[in-house]
Amino acid sequence: MIDNNSIEQLKQTIDIVDVVGNYVELKKNGSNFKGLCPFHDEKTPSFIVSPSKQLYKCFGCGAGGDAIKFLMEFEKLSYPEAIEKLASQYNFTLRYTKGEHQGSDERRVLETVGRWYRANLERNEKAKEYLAQRGVSLASIEKFGIGYAPSSEETLLFLQRTMIPLQKAAEAGLLGYEQGRYYARLIDRVIFPIFSPSGMPVGFGGRTLGNHPAKYINSPQTKLFNKSRLLYGYHLAKEQIYKKRRLIVVEGYMDVIMLHQAGFQTAVATLGTALTNDHLPLLKKGEPEVIVAYDGDRAGIDAAMKAALLLSRHNFDGGVILFDGGMDPADMVNAGNADLIEALFASPIPFAKFVIDMMVSSGKTDTPKGKEEVFKAVKNYLGTLSMFLQEEYIPYASSLLGISTARLKTDKKSIASIPQQSILTLSDIAEKSIIKTLLKTPTLTDMVLDVMDSSMFHTHKEAFEALIQGRQNSELLAIDFDDSIKIYSEEELKKQLNYFLRRYYAKALDIIKKYDKLPLEKKMFYLRRYKEYINKLKQGELVPYESHSTL
Ligand code: ZN
Repeated sequence: MIDNNSIEQLKQTIDIVDVVGNYVELKKNGSNFKGLCPFHDEKTPSFIVSPSKQLYKCFGCGAGGDAIKFLMEFEKLSYPEAIEKLASQYNFTLRYTKGEHQGSDERRVLETVGRWYRANLERNEKAKEYLAQRGVSLASIEKFGIGYAPSSEETLLFLQRTMIPLQKAAEAGLLGYEQGRYYARLIDRVIFPIFSPSGMPVGFGGRTLGNHPAKYINSPQTKLFNKSRLLYGYHLAKEQIYKKRRLIVVEGYMDVIMLHQAGFQTAVATLGTALTNDHLPLLKKGEPEVIVAYDGDRAGIDAAMKAALLLSRHNFDGGVILFDGGMDPADMVNAGNADLIEALFASPIPFAKFVIDMMVSSGKTDTPKGKEEVFKAVKNYLGTLSMFLQEEYIPYASSLLGISTARLKTDKKSIASIPQQSILTLSDIAEKSIIKTLLKTPTLTDMVLDVMDSSMFHTHKEAFEALIQGRQNSELLAIDFDDSIKIYSEEELKKQLNYFLRRYYAKALDIIKKYDKLPLEKKMFYLRRYKEYINKLKQGELVPYESHSTL
């Protein structure tokens, strides 16, 4: 039997638009997608896919459900078969159990203990006072399920009274074990429950009310709780993120809570880590503009720089905001400055501009050697961006550095780098699997090179180039050693390349449509060509890669 937690995690990984989009041509329609229903014959589309609800619905024939249901109906699969198929498409490793409901135990433990923390808050004046002084309203306490964790003894006593085995509580991340004894990890702390994107409890964060040197701590990584992938508050923010197409990333729980309280309901926070590649799938959902709003201190600036590098390379719209004067967003809301925050959010510094500014301002541009170093760093960075961003920021960097634009241009110029705009999660996975397959079966290399070029790769471009050139590369090694990455058979590879190219050219088409700097004639040419490609791909053919002329 497939482990329930494992199914839940798979559901968090997949995006219904992505899944259905492999079978049905979907067009954006407000915050939803629309297409011709695959379950009944129709000429005008009445088949709707909602990314925020992760559901599809046909208003013609009444068909509807989630991504798993779609696969079951469309491919005539059983429930476990559909899950296994999705898992293999996403290179997701499912866990299997012998018995029943193993994983849901942990969830029940977290729910029970969460309710108890919540009830404890009512009885603890110190904790209530702390929240009041930070300006947290009763409605926010309710909405975020804020609670209080008392002493270790009281926690153990509660678990025993409610017949929760201590070992189960430890597996859920609530208890630690030392010198033959269990102890509570969260002691005398205000508790912020952490939920999965679908709203399931997965762990807790706690803020000390005593003198504990660690101001904030989180539950440890467990089967349910993967810190580097989750965003605090996402389950409450997602509906608005899809609606407003905006997502605000802040540093702490309190910032999220106070921003929501002030009406900024798309705020989320990382869980004590920087933004990493692992967060990208969640950030991409709904294709929102992302605003990184951090403190203006050293740590905040460094974290913002990392985030801006990551997000500009992945072509996210949005930018950075730094809060000055030792105020974080939570303080500003508490001080009644919500209007000021709104004004700040309205004009973030675009990610690429922020990175270039930081590179220039932190370097020593007053000496020739220093200037040369900054120039190299900026040029390298520009080379990692899409052609569109390069076009936009080369003139900017050139004026900032007093260097001609020609010297900042990279050599690789190909229209093929355009669709890096915003790729779907599936492409990331496909990239790794294509590379892994070629590592294991080099004879398939020609087949891949016939239809694609390294510039079509997004996240794993360098690894692919290293592979083709027979060089060693750390990322390539990582892919080689990662057993969770699927190796395709020749037949599967063909199919996956077809999916990959369909997504790639569909995205290219979309971008060309919106790109108004292109002469009309060229625009029409590419529109026609990409449409032709997509039609061929849909018929199961692969289209040969041709190097494209420069824009
Ligand atoms: Zn229908």
